[in-house]
Amino acid sequence: MGPFVRHALSVWLVAFLLPVLIAPLSARAAEWKAGVARVKITPRQPMWMSGYASRDRPAEGTLIDLWAKALALDDGEGHRAVLVTMDLCGIDRDLSGRVCEAIESKHHLDRASIALCVSHTHSGPVVGNNLRPMYGLDERQSKLVDEYAAELETNLVSVAGEALASLAPARLEWGVGRATFAVNRRNNKEEDVTRLREEGKLQGPVDHDLPVLVVRTPGRGGEAKPLAIVFGYACHATTLSFYQWSGDWPGFAQIEIEKAYPGATALFVAGCGADQNPLPRRTVELARRYGSEAASGVGTAIGASLNPVAGALRMSYSEIELPFAELPTREQVEKDAASKDRYVAGRAKLLLSQWDRDGKLSPTYPYPVQVWRLGAGPTIVFLGGEVVVDYSLRLKRELGPEKTWVASYSNDVMAYVPSLRVLKEGGYEGGGAMLYYGLPSPWGDETEERIVREIGRQAQ
Ligand SMILES: [Zn+2]
Repeated sequence: MGPFVRHALSVWLVAFLLPVLIAPLSARAAEWKAGVARVKITPRQPMWMSGYASRDRPAEGTLIDLWAKALALDDGEGHRAVLVTMDLCGIDRDLSGRVCEAIESKHHLDRASIALCVSHTHSGPVVGNNLRPMYGLDERQSKLVDEYAAELETNLVSVAGEALASLAPARLEWGVGRATFAVNRRNNKEEDVTRLREEGKLQGPVDHDLPVLVVRTPGRGGEAKPLAIVFGYACHATTLSFYQWSGDWPGFAQIEIEKAYPGATALFVAGCGADQNPLPRRTVELARRYGSEAASGVGTAIGASLNPVAGALRMSYSEIELPFAELPTREQVEKDAASKDRYVAGRAKLLLSQWDRDGKLSPTYPYPVQVWRLGAGPTIVFLGGEVVVDYSLRLKRELGPEKTWVASYSNDVMAYVPSLRVLKEGGYEGGGAMLYYGLPSPWGDETEERIVREIGRQAQ
């Protein structure tokens, strides 16, 4: 090797290899910060419970308290985000908009950096206009629902603010655990589930992944203790249907995780579980058991090797105009308003009030799609509505199963969101539930493609 070649090699080393070697160090120089906060949101009044049309009276007590929790993140490069999770069945677009506007203006954040997620517990209160046509509320109950929504709005803004005010140096890690209690409710009869499970004959798509994000802060003695543990799972929170407030299985899971990791705040982000139920169900013991199974899935993921999350936070948000299949005529809606079916009449009255306000019905709905990329860690997709499991399976396949986390019930729970397969099959998730959400018809055929295309665009 001549001197020229040696010189060329060292130039090459300095010019190309050294930056590659140094890069991971400089990436680490930017340090994450995190903060958490929580506020109790259990109703103080015996008000109406959300999720089931069949309830005939208000709540009668509390099994476990309901919470709103916030996790604020700062990537050290000027990007901040706040995730707010709630033990609630749903929130509507108006409430979500007001909460986000207040957080944006108080803390100089943009819409993309705020994610509002509900657990979809069916043992929480009716919130604002979410699923309102499902309940025949009298004047007193309507007033309680409106008052609760106003108080919730204040609580959500303040809990986000508290989390942002407590930002401190942190380390992020993530991994994926597993739990198997979610069953495809469209493909298995509830009464057959125990037998089918024993025989290994459960049918239909499921997503048993349990993504986990662990935020650690340096404690005394250099040990980094979990400050926050965020976990997701694709399953309805419908174990319980009686008259006591509770976060259902996600509520029990959060309690158990917080017991196992003292000082940590556990936050649950629901996955694409619109067609998934925790089965069998209907006892407190089962709600506890599923909570326990989710918590132990989280523990197993933490006990195995988690992946450190380095790099910057990138966030995007948009609302796409999602078309309905068809709009009813004014004549049809007026006829429905006189129907003996109280759900048909309730929806019709809601549609008529929109018609009178806007001079027409909108042929589309502004559907929220949000993507957070956590550096080299997970890309978290937050979708509005009750999204069926086909979406998380497809998105993980298309965006990379090792780095994709799909959340649903985020920002606005306006309807079920079927895949094209489920839309064509029909049934409750395919279109039947639109009645209870006060929407004029099933979604159009292009729903899945439009949503997936927008996620792809944002995830680029
Ligand atoms: Zn649901």
